[in-house]
Amino acid sequence: MPEKSSDTSTPVNILWFRHGLRIHDNKSLEKAVGDKSLPILPLYIFDGETTVSKMCGYNKMAFLVECLEDLDQSFKKFGGKLICVKGKPTEVLANLKKRLTISSLIFDQDCEPIWKERDDKVKKWCEINDVNVEETIGATLWDPLEIIETNGGSPPITYKQFVHVTKAVGEPPKPIPDIDLTDVEFAEIEENLLVKLHGFPTVPTPETLGYTKPEGIHQKVFKGGETKALEYFHDRMRRERASFEEGSFLPNRRNPDIYFPTKSLSPDLKFGCISVRLFYWSVMETFRDVHDGTRNPSDALVQQLIWREFFYAMSAENPYYGEMERNPICINIPWYKDQKALEKFKAGQTGYPFVDAGIQQMKVEGWVHHVIRNCLSMFLTRGDLWLNWEEGFKIFMTYLIDADFAVCAGNWMWVSSSAFEKALNSNFSLDPGTYGRRVDPYGKYIKKFIPKLKNYPVEYVYEPWTAPIEIQEEAGCIIGKDYPNPMINHNVAFRRNAREMNNLAKSLLEKFREEPIHVKPSNAEEAKRFLGLNDEDCPRSLNDARE
Ligand SMILES: Cc1cc2nc3c(=O)[nH]c(=O)nc-3n(C[C@H](O)[C@H](O)[C@H](O)COP(=O)(O)OP(=O)(O)OC[C@H]3O[C@@H](n4cnc5c(N)ncnc54)[C@H](O)[C@@H]3O)c2cc1C
Repeated sequence: MPEKSSDTSTPVNILWFRHGLRIHDNKSLEKAVGDKSLPILPLYIFDGETTVSKMCGYNKMAFLVECLEDLDQSFKKFGGKLICVKGKPTEVLANLKKRLTISSLIFDQDCEPIWKERDDKVKKWCEINDVNVEETIGATLWDPLEIIETNGGSPPITYKQFVHVTKAVGEPPKPIPDIDLTDVEFAEIEENLLVKLHGFPTVPTPETLGYTKPEGIHQKVFKGGETKALEYFHDRMRRERASFEEGSFLPNRRNPDIYFPTKSLSPDLKFGCISVRLFYWSVMETFRDVHDGTRNPSDALVQQLIWREFFYAMSAENPYYGEMERNPICINIPWYKDQKALEKFKAGQTGYPFVDAGIQQMKVEGWVHHVIRNCLSMFLTRGDLWLNWEEGFKIFMTYLIDADFAVCAGNWMWVSSSAFEKALNSNFSLDPGTYGRRVDPYGKYIKKFIPKLKNYPVEYVYEPWTAPIEIQEEAGCIIGKDYPNPMINHNVAFRRNAREMNNLAKSLLEKFREEPIHVKPSNAEEAKRFLGLNDEDCPRSLNDARE
């Protein structure tokens, strides 16, 4: 077991964890350990937003805490621990500096604009206090700032252009080999210093941090932390291999499985429990292996990861990326203001069971499949309620454990037709009944998350208000009394919304004489792939609408 250092004159390297909550493929850990000449201090600071943002519900915080516990256990195997403290990062560092000589502060880049102010302040503090700063790239395949620079100072505006720029930058780095922590020395924090730092003797629980488990609606599906993430990852790789062997790819998209969310790696990617480089290269190498090296993998196999990168690059230098009005890539759409309608949506009381089940699953489990996210986001915005995407973004950010500022806002802008999408397109919308039936023909999903409807015959479960009263009575759920009537008529709302969009497009064109500046897909196929739609999902020719 290596020695612990509590000698205040020995310089230490602080390894500041934010995202990147893992030991494998961790460049900042590699740097902190260096030649093993200095002790390291693994540190996590609860500042009320780091890693989870200010919009954070119980499930997300519980997931974060599990990630930190797992990390702590990993360090404990080598005689160290993860020091968890509460406070503003610069104040924590200043207190540490009174008792320790800090050689370097090392952390993974958090490129999203919501973290910029925090990191600028910390970098400034380090400069003034003569502390070396090392920032590594761990959350993304490429450095988003390098992408922007290579593109001439602004982010590439279409996905195609983005891919083009990545080719100029070069292949993403391969994961680094595992780091041997055997002889690493860990700095020790004395108890009185820990108290001064508002530190926790062990990783705190969500309750200690002021989060209350929502009564009756909490169900643990995902477990956070690198150990579990690696299990999910190996399982995912088995499924990637099986799909390549069948001549297919993108297993989670081709066969949407809305019941078993543990197949998803998005929470682990968000918190960095799994390395995105490991994921990317494993998919590529599995493909090569399945084809005995005779075929080269293409970007299509990992296109969802590339979309993730694209959104990171789009957000990196845009402080208003999470907003509508001040956001230069987002079209200002005069959405309705209807607090009552918003409350019904939030409460999962829209009267459309497929939508309500989605809201319920999100609150209970902290996760919903991409196809349900599409349905929810379209329903709130251009599909039905015509409400501002910013509201939906806040709901997703709060409840989803994989909620990722850049990715979440990017997807909301896309689906609401505010950006990343042909301007103000509304010729296409998902009907919650028809779409739900296609994804889940027997209504099992609805019955699981809205038990009140569990006795409904399958032909009525998507539109229960159409069931004759005797069937409603037999099922023990009267619509309008036990479960709400639909809050809106989808067919009417959809046509009205399309009119609103068309009128707005016309007025903008008259005003500016050209399509307003916004980012958009390169072509229709790309749009369909992004939304994970098949041709039968877009009867009104998505092609016409999006080319
Ligand atoms: C309105 C809306 C909001 C969303 N918010 C988020 C979010 O906050 N965080 C998040 O990770 N995903 C978000 N997504 C994208 C997507 O729904 C999830 O990434 C996906 O459901 C995760 O499941 P998976 O791991 O099985 O994905 P797979 O299909 O297996 O994809 C692998 C990985 O690629 C990334 N990815 C997949 N789809 C997208 C996409 N459309 N855009 C960018 N990256 C993608 C994720 O990291 C995902 O884990 C959102 C989608 C919509 C429509």
